[in-house]
Amino acid sequence: MVLKRFSLSREHIIGWLKEDNDSLLKEIFDWADEVRRENVGNDVHLRGLIEISNVCRCDCLYCGLRKSNSDLKRYVMTEDEILDCTDKARQFGYGTVVLQSGESPVFTAEHIASIIRKIKAATQLAVTLSLGERDEQEYKLWKDAGADRYLLRHETSDLNLLKIIRPTSVYENRLEALRVLKRIGFEAGSGIMIGIPGQSYATVADDILQFAGLDLDMIGIGPYIPHPKTPLASMQSQIGNEQVPATELMTLKAVALTRIMCPQANIPATTALATINKESGREGALQGGANIVMPNLTPVKYRSLYEIYPAKACIDEASDQCAMCIKARILSIGRTIGKGPGGRTKCPS
Ligand code: SAM
Ligand code: SF4
Repeated sequence: MVLKRFSLSREHIIGWLKEDNDSLLKEIFDWADEVRRENVGNDVHLRGLIEISNVCRCDCLYCGLRKSNSDLKRYVMTEDEILDCTDKARQFGYGTVVLQSGESPVFTAEHIASIIRKIKAATQLAVTLSLGERDEQEYKLWKDAGADRYLLRHETSDLNLLKIIRPTSVYENRLEALRVLKRIGFEAGSGIMIGIPGQSYATVADDILQFAGLDLDMIGIGPYIPHPKTPLASMQSQIGNEQVPATELMTLKAVALTRIMCPQANIPATTALATINKESGREGALQGGANIVMPNLTPVKYRSLYEIYPAKACIDEASDQCAMCIKARILSIGRTIGKGPGGRTKCPS
């Protein structure tokens, strides 16, 4: 199969993001669904999420794990607990585990490498890391240990906005980190939140163009959900036409446009979307371009402590319940459960 690439202009993307005519919007969702079917098929791949620690040295203005949130009890999973979760992933038939945490040295680089080696020795699972910004030597160590993918959302392409909401991040480093990760041989993933205060339609269009320009392997898009213990929650959103709303519909539009612009990428139906619409948020994304779901494997005793935003979907469900529920939802919309690691498919351009 030869890749059919569609290119929407910045103005077109902005126009679609602002569109509110239901029948026109159906066209874009159907188009994204068709591009998804042609390029990545009907399989929905399952990535088991293990939230290995909520300790974080950063102070992102939007996130409940920020270091200044002194009300949050911090935890670090033991190696045995992590390996128990990866064994569950194998039993549930998942193809990948995602080790995610706050950005912190509570796990040394060598300790993470040793955990990756143990997962690889015991299972056929692909290993994705989402541990924040680390240096090149650490990324290399983890790649050599067998890790396959790295997720590092750039959050927003608006440099001024990023400086405000992520004061501890250097924007260029985050994009540079994605390039470094690709060069080292990782499948690299990025993403954004929809509706952060100060975000304009033009910025979301630039984000989508940047996904395509970076030729990313994975792209996560979820709505921004205010957390009451963060500074951003009390900041009034800009009033006016240019503030992007943090709604399900706006997130679905961004997912669909991203699929059209990045036909081969793996795109999750995010937990944040399932949080703002617990009934059918995931299904909506899967029917408008997405092809990945990340069921939670974190032990229930830690789930509520990984509170990046409140009322997270699946917060009290044991991992076997999550597995059953998500598989049933996927089958109910006529899709199939992916087998194996489900890495990015690359067709000749
Ligand atoms: N610490 C790592 C990092 O920042 O890359 C990984 C974990 S972090 C919790 C994962 C993602 O959660 C972030 O990239 C961000 O997009 C998302 N997130 C954090 N706070 C959020 C909020 N209030 N609403 C929606 N998504 C949020
Ligand atoms: Fe830490 Fe990531 Fe939350 Fe920022 S988004 S405070 S780096 S966990």
